[in-house]
Amino acid sequence: MSIVDTPERRQLRELTRAFVTREVLPHLDDWERAGEVPRSLHATAAKLGLLGIGFPESVGGSGGDLLDSILVTEELIRSGGSSGLVAALFTHGIALPHMVAAAGKRTGGTLGGRLGSDATSGDDDLIDRYVRPTLAGTMIGALAITEPDGGSDVAGIRTTARRDGDHYVVNGSKTYITSGHRADFVTTAVCTDFPGSGELTLLVIDKGTPGFTVGRRLEKLGWHCSDTAELSFVDVRVPLTNRIGAEDTGFLAIMQHFAAERLSLATQAYATAQRCVELAVRWCRDRETFGRPLASRQLIRHRLAEMHTRAEAARAYVHEVAHRVVAGEPVVTEVAMAKNVAVAACDHVVDQALQLHGGFGYLRDAEVERHYRDARILGIGGGTTEIMNEIIAKGMGL
Ligand SMILES: Cc1cc2nc3c(=O)[nH]c(=O)nc-3n(C[C@H](O)[C@H](O)[C@H](O)COP(=O)(O)OP(=O)(O)OC[C@H]3O[C@@H](n4cnc5c(N)ncnc54)[C@H](O)[C@@H]3O)c2cc1C
Repeated sequence: MSIVDTPERRQLRELTRAFVTREVLPHLDDWERAGEVPRSLHATAAKLGLLGIGFPESVGGSGGDLLDSILVTEELIRSGGSSGLVAALFTHGIALPHMVAAAGKRTGGTLGGRLGSDATSGDDDLIDRYVRPTLAGTMIGALAITEPDGGSDVAGIRTTARRDGDHYVVNGSKTYITSGHRADFVTTAVCTDFPGSGELTLLVIDKGTPGFTVGRRLEKLGWHCSDTAELSFVDVRVPLTNRIGAEDTGFLAIMQHFAAERLSLATQAYATAQRCVELAVRWCRDRETFGRPLASRQLIRHRLAEMHTRAEAARAYVHEVAHRVVAGEPVVTEVAMAKNVAVAACDHVVDQALQLHGGFGYLRDAEVERHYRDARILGIGGGTTEIMNEIIAKGMGL
């Protein structure tokens, strides 16, 4: 029996599939048009224990590890959801882990110990004020790293935080922030030295703090049910107790948590590919041209076989790398390779699946059309394909 196919994990899949069938599929088209998912969906997912997967029970989570989170993500997409849905509903997967780690409550992790807290940060308090309510589905969080001047160069962040008594005064702006419109708080990367110095700190900034404004809702190619925002900070006073971990440990924290984010995006990629293979197989069985089903033609069968192979190979590799992350192995290079392998598989499959659907594939009515648009972000978010290649090249000693 495969480690991802234990009775508990099969149950988790079934729970996720039932959630999608009952709570998502009847409404997803409406949410795509509305540009966001409702807050009530977070509460429903939390009640079922899905929001808390991968977070320890000591912080209000449901337990489980990175592989369990990966399986939930996979099933959300394979049962008819989308990567946009995952981005919108599971933004806490990138907004909370730094807080959990800094409070030393991440199961099996060394991050909390290494990054530490100090007398002025309120790490335990952050768990009660932000982590628990978010995992209970009553708060929404976002993660703001990217700035208008650039996202790939994280060390180049220009949003500053100047210390003033028991507060920081934050000035700067962020862009492309997932769930930024709906978020009650934003885990924000700021620079505590001169702009671009790389001395980064993470602060939790509440919506409604004077000087913090959420700008226009950004319109996008895909991920339509996921709201994306520009954020502006003008002399925003943030208490020291809203700092995550010690000052100037933000860069290391961001890099360490990129592994989970990148594997989530890799999962979204291979799961989208798997779903599109299923859609294409169904279509090719049903669709007749020149008096025969498409699936009866060798050219089409081989094309489907190749799509299936790429999706399954990507899945196997992402799972292997996730196992190694859970085991505590240093696999930065492998995580980057997993993301690029899965994104390449996805890009190929969504394109081929749409082509096999003919004109219908180009219509909003076709599910494959949504996956085609949604997939394009996966090689950009969480570190682009080019940045992954930089990491891989470094890992090769180049
Ligand atoms: C829908 C969406 C949701 C997002 N959600 C979030 C979020 O929640 N939080 C957040 O902080 N960010 C988010 N992002 C931002 C995303 O992480 C960045 O867009 C991404 O990291 C790339 O940064 P950039 O757009 O500034 O591109 P740039 O860094 O300006 O790069 C532009 C191009 O140059 C390439 N490039 C850059 N440097 C090099 C190099 N050294 N060598 C070769 N090529 C290079 C890049 O690969 C890319 O192709 C989101 C983006 C989108 C579109």
